[in-house]
Amino acid sequence: MFYQQRVLVSLLRNSIKLALKQLKNWMAPEKAKTSLTTFPASAEIVSEPLGVVLVISAWNYPFLLSIDPVIGAISAGNAVVLKPSELAPASSALLTKLLEQYLDPSAVRVVEGAVTETSALLEQKWDKIFYTGSSKIGRVIMAAAAKHLTPVVLELGGKSPVVVDSDTDLKVTVRRIIVGKWGCNNGQACVSPDYILTTKEYAPKLIDAMKLELEKFYGKNPIESKDMSRIVNSNHFDRLSKLLDEKEVSDKIVYGGEKDRENLKIAPTILLDVPLDSLIMSEEIFGPLLPILTLNNLEESFDVIRSRPKPLAAYLFTHNKKLKERFAATVSAGGIVVNDIAVHLALHTLPFGGVGESGMGAYHGKFSFDAFSHKKAVLYRSLFGDSAVRYPPYSRGKLRLLKALVDSNIFDLFKVLLGLA
Ligand code: NAD
Repeated sequence: MFYQQRVLVSLLRNSIKLALKQLKNWMAPEKAKTSLTTFPASAEIVSEPLGVVLVISAWNYPFLLSIDPVIGAISAGNAVVLKPSELAPASSALLTKLLEQYLDPSAVRVVEGAVTETSALLEQKWDKIFYTGSSKIGRVIMAAAAKHLTPVVLELGGKSPVVVDSDTDLKVTVRRIIVGKWGCNNGQACVSPDYILTTKEYAPKLIDAMKLELEKFYGKNPIESKDMSRIVNSNHFDRLSKLLDEKEVSDKIVYGGEKDRENLKIAPTILLDVPLDSLIMSEEIFGPLLPILTLNNLEESFDVIRSRPKPLAAYLFTHNKKLKERFAATVSAGGIVVNDIAVHLALHTLPFGGVGESGMGAYHGKFSFDAFSHKKAVLYRSLFGDSAVRYPPYSRGKLRLLKALVDSNIFDLFKVLLGLA
């Protein structure tokens, strides 16, 4: 787990370094084109701070999900109140201590707490609320924000599918799926693979390869592996047990299934062809259970994905160029990764966020700065060249001229001026 934390701290350091390096460019007014309608004029888009913003974060990556939005909020010139998750109390306390110690308390404050404290914060008027968490609570946040007409960014989750084509490098595919699922907080990650779609023919090969690589990574008894995170608390342990213990689901375990409630451990668990209407296929899993659904042909995977709420991420493993292109063009998800899992979130040049049920708005890199800025339209007009055409009394000729100006049609404008129209 130490390894994971170090990687995440590096991601945060990169976000900070990038903001420090690029801030001048991000803040610079952006020139905008003008037209005949406003001639003579110049125009620009000016980024201005929104004011005081609230960041509410989740427990599963408590530092990254708290500090990364705060970087965007401060870069854009806002004051911030951060509310870390109460489910990671040690991180929440440390964030309070460190942010108080190193940042200007008139600009950044941490408020710790759970539902009562968050509800009290939500009663206040904010200039933006940036929320990371479940879709269920996302609705509570949005309803509270609506009372004050406060804009929101909702970074939610969902059931992120992985489509595996038989035309792939099986070993690399399997290793990347494993590390993307169980290597990242034991499946307790928003972009974790939620279920796999593959053909009936290919599934046995895929499962055998997964078993082999899982054993290489985590040993014969993965529940005891030091590289395997525990489940965050007993509520989440019981929630996952409930998903697994449905009769028609527990029958479908082809690998794993071991649980240890005392130590909050659940082994990597693969299930084959669970019913589509089971709990495990209805809710976001957010844990170490991975159903594989088999199809007659891979084409059907498009229908399965499209028939469900839009996920935060969708993954495809294939060598097939046409399939890659079609997947990227037709599957709607917060982000698409071909031939890997979750790594898109490390690229600051890509926006990170959901669509539909998986959220709204995005951040990372300059997208974070933009998420916390108002893009103000500024037009500088000259007091010269004042045309009588916009002032009464109006005439047909003035109307024609005005229309040519509004259409920015220089040809029509000349025709009108030369009396040809
Ligand atoms: P959660 O929704 O339970 O809690 C998130 C935050 O909301 C916490 O700070 C919590 O105190 C607050 N909260 C909880 N109940 C509340 C209520 N009734 N009123 C007001 N505030 C309340 O989410 P979680 O369990 O911490 O995180 C798991 C979920 O978050 C998953 O769905 C996961 O996919 C999603 N997630 C998304 C991202 C992303 O970047 N898109 C990242 C991590 C987690």
